[in-house]
Amino acid sequence: MANRIDVEQLCAERGLRITEQRRVIAKVLSDSDDHPDVELLHSRAAAIDPKISIATVYRTVRLFEEAGILDRHDFGDGRSRYEAAPEAHHDHLIDVETGNVIEFVDPELESLQKQIAEKLGYRLVDHRMELYGVRQDRDN
Ligand SMILES: [Zn+2]
Repeated sequence: MANRIDVEQLCAERGLRITEQRRVIAKVLSDSDDHPDVELLHSRAAAIDPKISIATVYRTVRLFEEAGILDRHDFGDGRSRYEAAPEAHHDHLIDVETGNVIEFVDPELESLQKQIAEKLGYRLVDHRMELYGVRQDRDN
């Protein structure tokens, strides 16, 4: 999201061993604010260090995800996309024509979801909200 998250520092906090290649991938993740998939991450990482293979990027994002450093999303096209786990929760609106992802937070929506869970006898601990849309000014 808007504030940059230092992925390398999160690795250190969680005691992950940081290799040169992991450091590059962590930097690429920190610098990305567009929810890249593994291929895009690989092309960005390889621009810094051409020796980084796509297999290494796969392994590294899985490791980071398991450590809670990254959030993985599937925005409806079956591809896994990653972002540094944000400190503050946000939801996503996906433009189905361009694939652009817009981040938003809506307090009313947050409290409505809590109410729904409570009505069903639950205390809400997490949720995912993905809206899919086309821009209205592109309709006509
Ligand atoms: Zn996001």
